[in-house]
Parts: sequence; C-alpha cells; structure tokens
Amino acid sequence: MRKLYFLVLLIGCIGGTLRAQTYSIVIKGGQVIDPKNNLNEVLDVAITDGKIVQVAKNIDASKAKQVVNAKGMLVTPGLIDIHGHVFYGTEPNHYLSNGLTAVSPDGFTFRVGVTTIVDAGGAGWQSFPAFKKNIIFSSKTRVLSLLNIVGEGMRGGNWEQDTTDMDPKMAAAMALGNANDVVGFKVAHYMGGTWTPVDRAVEAGKLANMPVMVDFGMHNPPLSLEQLFLKHLRPGDIFTHTYTLLDDNVRETIVDEATGKVKPFVWEARKRGIVFDVGYGGASFNYSQAIPAVKAGFLPTTISTDLHTGSMNGSMKDLLSIMSKFVGMGESVPDVIKASTWTPAQVIKREMLGHISVGAIADVAILTMREGNFGFYDKTGYRVEGKKKFECEMTIKGGRIVYDLNGIANPLVVR
Ligand SMILES: [Zn+2]
Repeated sequence: MRKLYFLVLLIGCIGGTLRAQTYSIVIKGGQVIDPKNNLNEVLDVAITDGKIVQVAKNIDASKAKQVVNAKGMLVTPGLIDIHGHVFYGTEPNHYLSNGLTAVSPDGFTFRVGVTTIVDAGGAGWQSFPAFKKNIIFSSKTRVLSLLNIVGEGMRGGNWEQDTTDMDPKMAAAMALGNANDVVGFKVAHYMGGTWTPVDRAVEAGKLANMPVMVDFGMHNPPLSLEQLFLKHLRPGDIFTHTYTLLDDNVRETIVDEATGKVKPFVWEARKRGIVFDVGYGGASFNYSQAIPAVKAGFLPTTISTDLHTGSMNGSMKDLLSIMSKFVGMGESVPDVIKASTWTPAQVIKREMLGHISVGAIADVAILTMREGNFGFYDKTGYRVEGKKKFECEMTIKGGRIVYDLNGIANPLVVR
C-alpha cells in the first residue's frame, strides 16, 4: 500500500514536471536531417538553456517562449565550415593574417547557416594571441583555429616560404595552451619543392595529437600526391582543395584529366583515412575534377569554403552555394548535410557539435530548398544549370536565434 502511494506520487511529480515544461524555442514541423542520429523525417525540436532538450513528433509548444514554424523547411545541425579565413585586421600587407583579404566572421556566417568556422592558417603561433583577442573573443560565431606551421601565419609572399619560422614545438605548445580554440595545424602556399613544411606540421600534429590540413602544391614539377597521402600524412589529416586543377602543372590532380578516372592511390588514401576537403576558394574548384569524381562516388569528406574576399565574390559565394553544387552533381541532400555538419565536427574532434541530439549544444540551421532555375559555374567559366538551391531561413547558435530571413519566429527577435 505504501509502495503504491509512492508510485502514484512519483508519477504525479513526473506528470507535473512535463506539464510545467517551458521551452526557450520549439521548432515546429520541419524535416529534421541529423546524419549523426540517422534522422530524416518531420519532427519538432525543443531548445532550453542553450541545449537541445527534445526531438519528437508533436511537441507541445504552448509554453515555449518562441515558436518557429519550419513547415516545408529542412532543420539541420548548425553548419561547420572547416576552411575559412576570418583573421580580419588592419594591416594592409598581411594577406590572410590580420589583413584585409580575410573577413569578419559574423558578417558571413549566420546568414548562411554557419555556426562554427575554422580559420585555416591565418594565425601562426606568433600571431595567435592577437587572433584570439581580436577575433575569437570578439565574435558571436564559434571561431576555431588551424594554426599555421609558419609562426607568422598566412602573411603571404616570402613569409610563407621561410622554413626557419616553421617550428613544430612552438606551434604545438601554443595549440596545447589554447586547446579550446586550436583544432589542428595548417600548411599552405609553399613553393620550395621540399617536404619540410608538411613534415614539420605533422610533427606538431603528433606532439599535440591534432590533425593537419594541407594546401599542397605550387611546385613545378609537383611533388607526388601519392607520397603525400600514403607516406607523409596520417589518417585523419586533411587534404584541402580536393577538386582543383591548377595552371602550370604546379599540383597533381586527384582525377586523371585524360581518362576522367579517380587515380587508384586516391581511393587507397581515402581507405587509409585521409580526409578530402573541398576548400573551394578562389582557384581551388574545377568542375572537370568534381563531376567525374562525384560520378565515380568519390564524394568530399567535408565541404568547406576557403572564404575570403577573393573567393566569396567569385564563383564560390558561400557554403550553401557549394552544397547546392554538390546536390546538382548528384550527391544526396543528407550526404551533403553530413559533410557540412557531423563529419567536419569529427574531423576537428569537436564531437559535441554537428548534431541535434538531446543534450547537444543548440546550434541549428533551418534551410529552404528553393526550386527554380539556377546557374552554377567554376573559375574556368564552366557553367551548369541547377533546379535546386539551399537558402538559409534561420540560424540558431547556442540556443539563441541569430538570423531570421523571413521572420518565421513568433514572437520575432526584435533588434
Ligand atoms: Zn585557404
């Protein structure tokens, strides 16, 4: 009898808690695509205190502080761009390191569903403190860093050729001292034709137990991609600019341009765990590479922008535009979402991001798949027509609405 009494009391308490449940935000009726949890169905998503608290059908939104009507829209994890350039600054000759070619993150992220952006090598160990103070601390976007193996970072020209400024111990020490912000190391723009920068970055990667991203090439004759993938890099290291064909034979390609076949060692590299990142950029995406690769099933591991003033005003535009291109080439929408959310989270070892699990940080993108006639082109002028294009309706970062294109929140965030 006593036991029964307590049971009734317990059920009463749970019922009371459920009835009294208030949410910060409930997103109603959207198609939830959450690749980590294998979700692709119409569900509601409830958010409280910056976290996802429920993903279910018909969540009672009557007590929610804000309700978002996402009917006909895609609800995905906040997008993660692992190759951007956001070390914006005031030094005219500093290229992507505290210079004017980089962009201020908040101006270019939330409007396209991006909640996390990784600055790919703008800062090196010497310039990282300025990057942390001016950008990481001052941005609403979650900004992370792939630390350049060059101490001075991506200052352009001779700065990036100086192997005496490529110190793996100093780089690793700065990374480990800032492990909340640094997710790995970057090698780029080296024209010396030796393996020194790659090997130094991998050494830093081993010391800090972090991955390395490589922007390879710029030598003629080019160094062997096969050796890069199978001998110098480790599983989990990232090859960015996967689908580029550079002029003057300064970098080997992944697809044999003569036969249109993905080279056998590239398949082997994928099996070995090398990450193939898009890193679209200003000069780093050719349809002549991407179309045959996608057709053969060689999809990008991660989709990223290589965002800077040069690329965003060229054929790249933004992350959603690149994702739309891959959908246009035949990749499925869930695969494209996965390569822009859960997979990049794993690649940079930030598994708390990139999914909409109960308890996860509430970073959410709400997208519309627009239907119509759209044009997509690459740096060579090759143009294809597409019928589908992603558009960002809303971005939620850490449980707060930070972008609302058409005012679908009720009540609206007024600012
Ligand atoms: Zn870049």
